Amino acid sequence: MRGPAARVCFMVDLGTQRADIGVIGGSGFYSFLEDVTEVTVKTPYGPPSDSLFLGELAGRKVAFVPRHGRRHHLPPHRINYRANLWALRSVGVRQVLGPCAVGGLHPQFGPGTLVVPDQLVDRTKARTQTFFDGEPLPDGTVPNVVHPTFADPYCPTGRAVTVAVARGHGWGPVVDGGTMVVVEGPRFSTRAESRWHAAQGWSVVGMTGHPEAVLARELELCYTSMALVTDLDAGAETGEGVSHEEVMRVFGENVGRLREVLFAAVCALPENDERSCLCARVHDGVNLGIELP
Ligand SMILES: [Zn+2]
Repeated sequence: MRGPAARVCFMVDLGTQRADIGVIGGSGFYSFLEDVTEVTVKTPYGPPSDSLFLGELAGRKVAFVPRHGRRHHLPPHRINYRANLWALRSVGVRQVLGPCAVGGLHPQFGPGTLVVPDQLVDRTKARTQTFFDGEPLPDGTVPNVVHPTFADPYCPTGRAVTVAVARGHGWGPVVDGGTMVVVEGPRFSTRAESRWHAAQGWSVVGMTGHPEAVLARELELCYTSMALVTDLDAGAETGEGVSHEEVMRVFGENVGRLREVLFAAVCALPENDERSCLCARVHDGVNLGIELP
């Protein structure tokens, strides 16, 4: 995978660098853009997974953050999800697209299927999943206790745009809706766990979709998951089970067209000040105790 280093200037003054749309995904999504600016962002929660990489797509300003770091050194449970989302909002982002690799829990969700889930089940075990934990920020402000609505965890507008764009690109199997169960990892599921997940009627299993989605919600960001099925999970196939190599191979085979759909979705999203969804109004009338960036 090509790196962006040749076209990047480091430590740019954040004051001049803004973006409207955020993408949490690997370097395969931005490394070929003509002008990419690398920006280091500090957050009250420590450093994000990596720098932000800012670029422009058809007039839309986009900030990319490699979820696992540019060297892919961060396992799902070590990702600083709070810092990633906070950093994106700090540069102006209000809508986020989150491409990720998932396992299909049913044979009809085979490798290459693109699922745009509308529901999520959290089976992670040890991840901080709120900004509102009573811990003071470095500036001395203290977040209040807040209970954001999460009945529908994904942005309806972002979902509709993504599904339409993927179908318009002739992706093939595009699933509009479905439930993503998020497990702690980094191990894959046992066969029994996988069969149990499938028996609940859940569609796909991943390791990063939570707390990414709820933290985006807490920051009043629109968040849309783009889940590429890279394998059939352990309960849905009869071989030796999922392997990391197979996941990476299938993801690599699909990253080109996933990038095309992602970029088309970026261009089709509404302007930030034209958002009509609930995501932008989650905290209306609520005293947060802290200022969102
Ligand atoms: Zn929204």
